Amino acid sequence: MKSEIKFKSSYIAFSAPSGTGKTTIVEYLVKKYPHLVTSVSATTRPKRPGEIDGIAYHFLSERQFEEYINKGAFLEYEKVHGNYYGTLKATVDKHISDRRTVLFDIDVNGALSIKNKIPAAILIFLKPPYKDELITRLKNRKSETMESIDKRLQRLSYEYEMSAKFDYVVINDKLEDAIKEIERIIID
Ligand code: ADP
Ligand code: 5GP
Repeated sequence: MKSEIKFKSSYIAFSAPSGTGKTTIVEYLVKKYPHLVTSVSATTRPKRPGEIDGIAYHFLSERQFEEYINKGAFLEYEKVHGNYYGTLKATVDKHISDRRTVLFDIDVNGALSIKNKIPAAILIFLKPPYKDELITRLKNRKSETMESIDKRLQRLSYEYEMSAKFDYVVINDKLEDAIKEIERIIID
């Protein structure tokens, strides 16, 4: 009989400087392991080509987002690169009641807020092998203007400083190696 794969926590958060490969890694893990599910966040940032509302994010206006804040709908929320991003309590509660393990693609402050509220959460910080590679990846992704790339790079030193508070730091140089290392961290 095939033994069921168990994960070390029901809450696993991934943070990384924009362009490191967080989305790529999270999407790979969710496809490979049916027990894993991503928490779809709400955001006020404009949709990128190919992004579908309700799958990549719940795309909200600033006014709608602030109404959710006032209703206390968020487990955590932050303003990142000038836009709001937040984790909806109802989304996470539903996955947990379905006994799934939830993966969060979240900024460093959001990840630390989750750890504060849920100490059993595992926080993984992904790093690019070096800064120039990050710029190359962001340019190759073709989703950002130069202004938006600059805004993302300005946050780098703050993100690296915060990474000291994470449970694990994984370097995403060769994608397959980074994935193997993450599997060793999260699988029981
Ligand atoms: P993030 O979600 O961290 O902003 P993405 O997952 O969108 O980053 O990745 C940014 C770009 O880098 C994408 O075009 C992706 O295909 C590419 N990428 C991801 N991991 C690697 C890697 N290990 N080596 C080279 N390119 C990568
Ligand atoms: P992007 O615009 O590239 O999709 O995401 C920008 C940043 O916002 C990334 O660091 C991403 O992880 C973060 N982010 C996405 N969703 C959330 C969320 O719900 N809460 C917080 N705090 N950050 C988020």
